[in-house]
Amino acid sequence: MSKRDYYEVLGVAKGADDKDIKKAYKRLAMKFHPDRTQGDKGMEEKFKEVQEAYEVLSDEQKRAAYDRFGHAGVDPNRGGGGFGGGGAGAGDFGDIFGDVFGDIFGGGGRRGQSRAQRGSDLRYNLELNLEEAVKGKSVDIKVPTYVNCDSCDGSGAKKGTSAKSCPTCHGAGQVTMRQGFFAVQQTCPTCNGRGKIIPEPCTKCHGEGRVEKTKTLSVKIPAGVDTGDRIRLTGEGEAGMHGAPAGDLYVQVNVKPHPIFQRDGNNLYCDVPLSFATAALGGEIAVPTLDGRIKLKIPAETQTEKMFRLRGKGVQSVRGGGVGDLVCKVVIETPVNLSDKQKELLRQLDESMAGESEAKHRPKSKGFFDGVKKFFDDLTG
Ligand SMILES: [Zn+2]
Ligand SMILES: [Zn+2]
Repeated sequence: MSKRDYYEVLGVAKGADDKDIKKAYKRLAMKFHPDRTQGDKGMEEKFKEVQEAYEVLSDEQKRAAYDRFGHAGVDPNRGGGGFGGGGAGAGDFGDIFGDVFGDIFGGGGRRGQSRAQRGSDLRYNLELNLEEAVKGKSVDIKVPTYVNCDSCDGSGAKKGTSAKSCPTCHGAGQVTMRQGFFAVQQTCPTCNGRGKIIPEPCTKCHGEGRVEKTKTLSVKIPAGVDTGDRIRLTGEGEAGMHGAPAGDLYVQVNVKPHPIFQRDGNNLYCDVPLSFATAALGGEIAVPTLDGRIKLKIPAETQTEKMFRLRGKGVQSVRGGGVGDLVCKVVIETPVNLSDKQKELLRQLDESMAGESEAKHRPKSKGFFDGVKKFFDDLTG
């Protein structure tokens, strides 16, 4: 089958300019588009022919070759197949179909919109000691990040110049590729979806619109934070490319272990050593809190590991609610480094408690030895 002249296909004169060619193509492409011709084979052929003609005549080089050598000068069917003939420049179709068929395929309404990406979020790990976490603190942190380029105000364009609408997608950021009956929206390869190109990039940021910088930020850590809490600083993340909005900065709190206190929610726990004599006789001891020492009354005959709850001496949570408690566990100490005289006194004490009255002075041992006896009786049956 001999090929029709491309100018004839489009119905334009040999000397037609780009605008006329585009206009003619748009009109014919719509007329013969398979979405409208419902699979009519003859129409499909016409649509293909129109596309092929446009592909050649809209390309300066191909058109020149065609004008000189006719059909022999161009080979639009490389790759073959489908309505597009496989060779149409993506931009040409985006230009035409982006607005005409964009709505059908859900890609409408993007024209002219910048689809530049927001900057990345950042995370900063902040170590605090328990006192800082409980009382809150202002800290200065240094964050290596990207900030808007001040030389071009984030536009990426050299001073005195500006970004221009992308010639391929005309600002849409997307182009429509045709594959068979389907139109596929793709990110514009010329501008990578931004819809704009920068003819003269800013020399400071090389057209990125942002530069690397270590930022110092003063962060107010609220009282009551705990490990795992994070504080979001909106817009303090990396600046976006080409003036796009910045990401957020997340300050991730990690509270270092404390030598005395363990925290569990709003409560604090600590072990308090207690002398054997005070445990037996009762008395007052000083216990630590985050606000300094306070007195704790120890009743007589206190056993080791007894817990004492000091209400309201814990932590006020950052999330509100009541203040937690401080729970002190007393741990009775066995005396060490005893002098001969002290040892003798202990022996005398021990002997005074021995004999028939022993159980009277040892609240745990009766139950314990009864348990041991039962254990051995059970073993021997
Ligand atoms: Zn710049
Ligand atoms: Zn583009």
